Amino acid sequence: MFPDQRLFINGTFSPSVEENPTFFTTTNPATSTPLARVHEASPRDLQYAVDAATKAFETWSRTTPIERSRILNKAVSILRARSDEIAGAESLDTGKPFSETSTVDVPTGADVLEYFAGVCLSGLEGKMIRLREKAWAYTTKEPLGVCVGIGAWNYPIQIALWKCAPALAAGNTFIFKPSEVTPLTANILAEVFTTAGLPSGVFNVVHGGGGVGAWLSNCSGVAKISFTGQVETGKKVYSSAAGSSLKNVTLELGGKSPFIVFPDADLNLAADAAMVANFYSCGQVCTNGTRVFVHSSIKSKFEKLLLERVRDGIRAGDPLDPNVNFGPLVSEGHSKKVKTYIRHGEEVDRARLLCGGLKGTVSLPDGKGLEKGFFVAPTIFTDCSDSMLICREEIFGPVLSILTYETEEEVVRRANDTELGLAAGVFTRDIDTAHRVIGKMNAGICWINTWGESPAEMPAGGWGLSGLGFENGSEALSQFVRTRSVLVENGRFPAVFSKS
Ligand code: NDP
Repeated sequence: MFPDQRLFINGTFSPSVEENPTFFTTTNPATSTPLARVHEASPRDLQYAVDAATKAFETWSRTTPIERSRILNKAVSILRARSDEIAGAESLDTGKPFSETSTVDVPTGADVLEYFAGVCLSGLEGKMIRLREKAWAYTTKEPLGVCVGIGAWNYPIQIALWKCAPALAAGNTFIFKPSEVTPLTANILAEVFTTAGLPSGVFNVVHGGGGVGAWLSNCSGVAKISFTGQVETGKKVYSSAAGSSLKNVTLELGGKSPFIVFPDADLNLAADAAMVANFYSCGQVCTNGTRVFVHSSIKSKFEKLLLERVRDGIRAGDPLDPNVNFGPLVSEGHSKKVKTYIRHGEEVDRARLLCGGLKGTVSLPDGKGLEKGFFVAPTIFTDCSDSMLICREEIFGPVLSILTYETEEEVVRRANDTELGLAAGVFTRDIDTAHRVIGKMNAGICWINTWGESPAEMPAGGWGLSGLGFENGSEALSQFVRTRSVLVENGRFPAVFSKS
């Protein structure tokens, strides 16, 4: 068991201020055993966090970018030094394999912090606009104030870092609410920032469920909400952010992304990528390419390549075992939701099951308590059609659907036939086809002959119901600043009401 997870407000780990505080438990989804008791923030705790962040903003916003950058870079070094420990905690809390959390979640989170620690050195400069001989305007980039991050459970530490890095680099203060399903690593991040010398109140962590997120979205002392989660929750956050004080909002929401394989593609590469696009993190990735469009002429071959990879390449087991690449789903509730979709695919949609399904099993080592874990077998449906529920709604689990097509025009139309627009990918050896088709995708994050990488330098954000705004890339700093324009007149003021 981990020690009690407290709130981190104003530079201190402390219990709730309530006489009768409330708690919840976070659980290891691989064994269904409790990991830690977590202190839930009450409205009074939340107000205290907003007050502390507001106070800290007075000095942090005036700290020079170079000094802010120095502190954030110290945090990057500490994150890298503690990487395996943090990845281990993340794997216990989420069930994601250590082989992923230690190579992707923590390192790419640290990369983004390092990136914005660098970008803020030049990215916060304004411009000078010459108007007339004796008049000009200049602009400055000013931080917004107290920013809030509300995270999903699939990439907890990475989401925390992607949200707070540009915010803190730009001179804002920050309150992070992790998902109540995966609260552990947010507190470790608070320790990291403290050791790096981040002043008290600049970064705060508050724990709790949807009510905590809703309170923060409604709070008029908050200047910005950066949210990652489901579309329906995102709409609620957007609405309360507008209702309370017209907050700035970034929304990173769900997807149902098309993965298109042309007949001339390198099929081994495409099959490898389709496996990653559906079974990495056990399919709990927002950008997953779950609608795999395969030209009818290569369908049988492609199915065979996928089945070989499921049979020989999936290594399910204890997420902490570095050889394991397939863990449980994050919680019992989520595994039930995923199984309901699989049942629908089998019994109502009547898609043809290629492997997995409700009766599918994963082979697990004995003696580790994994039989109580929330494992779901990697599942592939084929001969799917666009109207099937499994091809329309985000499942967020290890479920791949194969759809066949005949022409480019047809596949482009069907790929775009969704209100979601998070990601899209094209596999072909023809450079013209690649760029022509990717240029027609209604999606914010696109890949050609690859899938899934989201480096710090590349802006990432969804279109349509998949979100608003974006994270990463140098322009993401602009999502955490406002522009002040100043007009300077050195000539004569054209008085209108003076005595002539
Ligand atoms: P949810 O929308 O259920 O929750 C996201 C966060 O919002 C959690 O911290 C949750 O708290 C909180 N929350 C719940 N209700 C409210 C509310 N009314 N107001 C404010 N906050 C609230 O998403 P999941 O955690 O289930 O995450 C999975 C989803 O996230 C998937 O749809 C996935 O596509 C999306 N996602 C998108 C990404 C992107 O970049 N586009 C990346 C990763 C995931 P609590 O959990 O404690 O109840």
